[in-house]
Amino acid sequence: MHEAEALIGGTWHTDPGGGTFTVADPATGEPIAHVTDGGAELTRRAVDAAAAAFPGWRALAADERAELMRRAAAELAARAESIGATMTSEQGKPLAESVAEVRSGADHLVWAAEETRRVYGQTVPGAGPDNRIWLLPEPVGVVAGITPWNFPVSMITRKLGPALAAGCTVVLKPAELTPLSAIAVGEAFTAAGLPAGVFNVVPTSRPADFAETVMADPRVRKVSFTGSTEVGRYLIRQSAQDVKRLSVELGGHAPVLVFPDADPEAAAAAVARSKFLNAGQACTSPNRIYVHRDVAARFTAALVKRAEAITPGLDMGPLIDARALAKVERHVEDALAAGAQAVTGGRRLDRPGTFYPPTVLTGVRDDMLICREETFGPIAPVLEFTGEDDVVARANATPYGLTAYVWTADLTRTLRVAEALEFGMVTVNGGPVAPPQAPFGGIKNSGYGREGGSLGVSDYLDYKYLSVGLGR
Ligand code: NAD
Repeated sequence: MHEAEALIGGTWHTDPGGGTFTVADPATGEPIAHVTDGGAELTRRAVDAAAAAFPGWRALAADERAELMRRAAAELAARAESIGATMTSEQGKPLAESVAEVRSGADHLVWAAEETRRVYGQTVPGAGPDNRIWLLPEPVGVVAGITPWNFPVSMITRKLGPALAAGCTVVLKPAELTPLSAIAVGEAFTAAGLPAGVFNVVPTSRPADFAETVMADPRVRKVSFTGSTEVGRYLIRQSAQDVKRLSVELGGHAPVLVFPDADPEAAAAAVARSKFLNAGQACTSPNRIYVHRDVAARFTAALVKRAEAITPGLDMGPLIDARALAKVERHVEDALAAGAQAVTGGRRLDRPGTFYPPTVLTGVRDDMLICREETFGPIAPVLEFTGEDDVVARANATPYGLTAYVWTADLTRTLRVAEALEFGMVTVNGGPVAPPQAPFGGIKNSGYGREGGSLGVSDYLDYKYLSVGLGR
């Protein structure tokens, strides 16, 4: 059994009350680690450490900060195999996906490190001939990050890269289901020589204690959250007490629109890749697959073939826990009871662990639970359509607004449909794309703020304006 602690000010800490919580392997249900249960006391200490480190970190020249970040990224990449193995043991995704995620996390840090050199101010027109005005970018200060379990490393590096590039210091609370990957990132950063207190990790099974502590502490100037819309709403309310800056990357309910001029086999192959990635536990996962009636049979046959080629336990991991499995079962049973058919899959696997097979449902209608709530499982619901305006309206009829996918070979349709879709990210003829230079994020109930790109760094900056009279 592994023992893990909180990283605070460059050293490892245990809960003064001796509290720990257990992390389990979802593939077996067996406990794999006892982790110190941070709670309010260790959160306060971590904020102390981040606040103490902030003046030194912000004062470094951009190139010095960039060099330390590049070293941290190199250390992370060098440990990709071992951190990947840790991630697989606590999250369940196949090792190749875990290792690729760690490498992509390192890439995000390298990109963000380069961005330190491009944090520019601005000169704006003065108020009259004797006045000059400049905008000076400044790091917001100590940042608290709260991340989910579905991408245990990349959800962290997407916050850490831009925050550190902007000159902020960070206190991170990883998901209680996957704290070991976060702690391993902390170990890599410490080994790379990142100054003590710049990045702190507080694992805890009591996330509300963490949230209340950081929200009430005036030294924490921003909270960056990725997770469910429900917890996002709670944090938005909490943020009012000390008027915290907030970024909230929340749930999604991505539609796919497959038009008859698209290649249905190519569309099915891409939909299968993004749908069954991480066992469907992604905010960008295609959740409502609208296929034009003329190509629906070809598309569905190709999707079923791809789904059946996946071996659970080898190409696809289990769901994160029993609660997640129960939700997937509830959504599928609701759809089947309301008249949908499971062309493949449709029942949990009879084996240890929380495995559910890749499933394709046809005869799905927009009013079914599976089309209204985020299922977060390997279920591909196929719906048919005939008219462009009608399918766009159906795609938009969701409170979420994160990702949408369109398949068409028609340029004018691409532009009409992409402009009409109410989502932060629209992909035409492809799957989810999230390189470090693209500003990832949603609208509506999918939240606000952007991660990636120069907009992502701006989320960690304040712009002070300096007005100077010329003394004439
Ligand atoms: P979750 O909201 O349950 O948990 C996310 C994080 O919030 C965890 O660290 C958890 O401990 C913490 N948390 C829970 N209750 C809290 C509270 N009262 N106060 C403070 N923190 C609290 O979400 P999850 O199940 O871990 O993740 C899945 C959700 O995340 C899905 O809705 C998914 O769409 C969303 N997600 C969004 C994005 C995005 O970029 N938009 C990316 C990945 C996941």
